[in-house]
Amino acid sequence: MRTEKFISCDCHAHGILMDYSISEGYNELYLTMYGDGRYYDKNTLWYRIKHSFKILCGGEIYGGDLILTEDKAIELKVYIEEFLNKIK
Ligand SMILES: [Zn+2]
Repeated sequence: MRTEKFISCDCHAHGILMDYSISEGYNELYLTMYGDGRYYDKNTLWYRIKHSFKILCGGEIYGGDLILTEDKAIELKVYIEEFLNKIK
């Protein structure tokens, strides 16, 4: 079962890949920040070659990973819900 979800930044230059792992007593949410949000959406061969070149020349396609345990994932959920409730 695929659990990944990618959301592009509205500026189309960034993105966040979310995934989760559920196992007995050790549930985690993974967030990976992409400096180039097009990478995930346009995963064509030519695009991957361009990105390989970029990485070989010292660049990175992602800005870092966050691993959130269940408690912190709930904090994130509450914060996003608070935002959504204010804009509705
Ligand atoms: Zn952006």
